[in-house]
Amino acid sequence: MGIVRKLERAVDVRRVKGDFPVRYTYTMPPHHERFFKTLKETGRFSGARCEKCNTTFVPPVAFCEKCFVRVGKAVDVADAGTLLAFTVAREGPGGERLPAPVVYGIVKLRGASTVILHKVLADPKRLKAGMKVRAQLKPANRRRGSITDIEGFVLV
Ligand SMILES: [Zn+2]
Repeated sequence: MGIVRKLERAVDVRRVKGDFPVRYTYTMPPHHERFFKTLKETGRFSGARCEKCNTTFVPPVAFCEKCFVRVGKAVDVADAGTLLAFTVAREGPGGERLPAPVVYGIVKLRGASTVILHKVLADPKRLKAGMKVRAQLKPANRRRGSITDIEGFVLV
């Protein structure tokens, strides 16, 4: 059998172990830079509101996906909101068993029209969609201006 063949059944997919080095540089667009700078320096969440349809994007975007217009108006939103959905990861990206389950949730911050995906720092047995959560940030002197400045969301 050659190295290239068509897989016809999903069970034929196999995992190939090895290294696949990828190097890249991510250039942050200005609207994301503002979001992370505000988070780092003030601990507040900022978004961008489309003045045509009033959608508030958090994190901010450059263009409204509904109206196809530039979104430039910066707005603050709350650091708390509603847990819309969640899942529990018991394995890491390499398939290794995690020492403890990690909960990931979809959170809609108060004042935002869009959602953020991040960790939920709570016992998954206690969680239900619709619960109120609040962002738990790293202490100000440890923030780096990245998504990891948010440690996760905790129940209010
Ligand atoms: Zn719009």
